[in-house]
Amino acid sequence: MNSLDPRSLIALGGFMALVMGIVLGFRRRYYPRNIHGLGYWALTPASMLWGAFFYAAPGPWPPELGRWLGHGLLLLGFVSFHFGCRRFFDHAAQARPILLIYGLVLLGLAWFVVVAPSYRVQLSLFNCALLALHTGTLYFLLRRSNKNFPVRMVEFALVLHMAILFARLVTTTPDMGDLLDASLIQNVYISSYLVIVLLLLIGAVLMATDRVRSELEYMATHDALTGTLNRRAILGFCADEHERSMRYGQSFSLMMIDLDHFKAVNDTHGHQHGDQVLVHFAGCTRAALRRADRSGRYGGEEFLVLLPNTDTDAALIVAERIRTALTTGHALDCAASIGVTHWCGPKDTLDAMLGRADAALYQAKAEGRNRICVG
Ligand code: GH3
Ligand code: MG
Ligand code: MG
Repeated sequence: MNSLDPRSLIALGGFMALVMGIVLGFRRRYYPRNIHGLGYWALTPASMLWGAFFYAAPGPWPPELGRWLGHGLLLLGFVSFHFGCRRFFDHAAQARPILLIYGLVLLGLAWFVVVAPSYRVQLSLFNCALLALHTGTLYFLLRRSNKNFPVRMVEFALVLHMAILFARLVTTTPDMGDLLDASLIQNVYISSYLVIVLLLLIGAVLMATDRVRSELEYMATHDALTGTLNRRAILGFCADEHERSMRYGQSFSLMMIDLDHFKAVNDTHGHQHGDQVLVHFAGCTRAALRRADRSGRYGGEEFLVLLPNTDTDAALIVAERIRTALTTGHALDCAASIGVTHWCGPKDTLDAMLGRADAALYQAKAEGRNRICVG
């Protein structure tokens, strides 16, 4: 580590930032617009690339100015990362107070470049500011309920970096060298940025990818109008439950629900009103079900409800709860007929159950609608 040249390390960091910037930039361009924060995350490596340039390039400007700009841009990159995390979880960036503090830190750094030059104080001030910023980002992420691997990875990278920043803070000495001093601790310190920034940005890319995946998964399994499961998804849950019953012998029930005279609702009040009635119906059904129960849109105005670990008597109580939930006097209330059936033992198939629920539903229709029949 001692033989490493800090300038090469910084250049390597700049190259890595360039690659990650391109990756994040493309993500921002091609990912759905409702995934926020990608722009801020893409700014992080862009800012760091310029920071690395001013740190390491022996430009025509004085090296102190290059160092100050480098510090400013590197810190701005982490500020941008913080904003990205907040926006990703649909929180306001709260840019004003943070940018105000950022400005003060820049002024403080300038003071210790121009008025009372000291690399040691610059480094300490920079590390304290970064420690405070990381604490804020970490605190924000820890309070999110969504704790998947990418979020954990970003949290881990932040904690690791905070430990390194703290170690650098307490190991500064009055006779310490400059930024480009190739001491072991300085090389470890500079290298840590390479690793941490890479972890943070990969974490950000994974967070965005995971969000896209879960949104696509939601779209593939849920009905766009009512938000209940779609036909394929509810049938999948029914098949799983049937398999469980075959293995463990516990019964479950199915409910087929069809809204009464729904064509007349559309014809009288219009299709949009009909849509709202469907949404209202789906909400009432959801509210009447237990956590383990599932409801899904089986067809136009026909819904299938799965009641795991439930016999017919219990299913009838739930069915009645749904039926009465639709008669509370709400403007979008509508009547429904319900066919109920339960798993009758190892010889019973899912198709047979669906057939019985459907037959019971038709019986309810035939007996005058707005009622429940068992099949
Ligand atoms: P019944 O009491 O016998 O069930 O009579 P019904 O009028 O409810 O039954 P029918 O099957 O004749 O009509 C169902 C209607 O549901 C026809 C169709 O236009 C309407 N429908 C299906 N999907 C939607 C939807 O997404 N939105 C709206 N507004 N209407 C829908
Ligand atoms: Mg109907
Ligand atoms: Mg129908």
